[in-house]
Amino acid sequence: MARRISLGLFLFLTAALFHPAYPRQAPFAAILGIAQDAGYPHAGCRKECCLMAWKNPSRRRMVSSLAIVDPATHERWIIDATPDFTSQLKLLEVIHPSRSGQAGTGGSIASTLGVTGIVLTHAHIGHYTGLIFLGREAIGAMNVPVYAMPRMWEFLRTNGPWSQLVTLNNIDLRPLEQGVSVKLNERISITPLLVPHRDEYSETIGVIIQGPNASLLFIPDIDKWEKWETRIEDLIARVDYALLDGTFFEDGEIPGRSMSEIPHPFITETLRRITPLPSSTRKKVTFIHLNHTNPALNEEGNANRQIETAGSRVAREGEKFGL
Ligand SMILES: [Zn+2]
Ligand SMILES: [Zn+2]
Ligand SMILES: [Zn+2]
Repeated sequence: MARRISLGLFLFLTAALFHPAYPRQAPFAAILGIAQDAGYPHAGCRKECCLMAWKNPSRRRMVSSLAIVDPATHERWIIDATPDFTSQLKLLEVIHPSRSGQAGTGGSIASTLGVTGIVLTHAHIGHYTGLIFLGREAIGAMNVPVYAMPRMWEFLRTNGPWSQLVTLNNIDLRPLEQGVSVKLNERISITPLLVPHRDEYSETIGVIIQGPNASLLFIPDIDKWEKWETRIEDLIARVDYALLDGTFFEDGEIPGRSMSEIPHPFITETLRRITPLPSSTRKKVTFIHLNHTNPALNEEGNANRQIETAGSRVAREGEKFGL
C-alpha cells in the first residue's frame, strides 16, 4: 500500500514538474533602481549628501525602476523607463539573461532589447525619458508594447521626440484604465491605481502586480497619503509586498526650499501610520525612490536603522520579490 502511494505521488510530482501548467520557476519582481528621478548623486550637488557617492561609485544609485520576470517563458517587463535605462537593461541581463529570439517583441532588432513590455507610471523625468533609447539614434526597437494611461499616451503621441517613437513604430500603445487589470501573460497581471501627484503632463499611477503566488504594490510617487481616497494601510494589508514612495525621510530635509511645493509622504509619516499594524504587515513595506538628500541612502546611517527598527526597510538594487 505504502509503495503504491509513493508511486502515485511520484507520478503526480513528475506530471506536475513537467506539465506546462506547473512551471518550476515562479515569476518575480526585481529592483533596478531606488533613487528619485534625478538619481544619486544628484546633478550639481556639492553638499554632504552626495559627496560620498561622487567619491565612491559603489554608493551611486540608479533611478527607481522595477523589473517583472517570468523565468518559465523568459519574458521580462520594466516598470518605468528611467534616465538610467542603459545600465538597468544591463542589470536585468545579470538578474535574468534574455534568450535571443524569445524575449524580443517583434523582429530581430527588438530581440536586442530583450524587453517584453514597458509600463509607465507618469511623465516626470525619472519615469519615462528612458524611452529615448528605443528610438532611431539608439536601439531602434520594433513595436515594444508600452502600457500607459490615456493622458500619458497622449503626451507621448503629441510631443517630440516621443512622437517619433510612435510614428516609427518603435513603441506600441497598450492603454491602461484605472482599476482594470491587464494580463501581461498567463501568470502575471497588473492593475493601475490613480494616485494624487503633480500631474502637469500626465496622470500618475501606482501598480499592483499579481503573480500566481503573491502580489506586489508599487507606488514610487504620491503627494501625501491623506490626499488619496484609498487608505494605504488597507492596501498594504491586501498585498504581499508594498514598495512605497520614500523620496524624503523627514520635513526640513531641503534647506531653503518649501517642501510643500514637492509633496511626498515623509518616511517618518509612513512609519507613524504603519506603527500600530502587526509586524507581519509592517515588514511588507519597502521604501523606494529616495531623493539625494534622504539620509536613508546611507545603509549604515541612523535613518536606515530607524526604518528597520520600525519593521520596514529600504529597497536594494538587484533585490527580488517572488510573485
Ligand atoms: Zn519620481
Ligand atoms: Zn546631494
Ligand atoms: Zn513624479
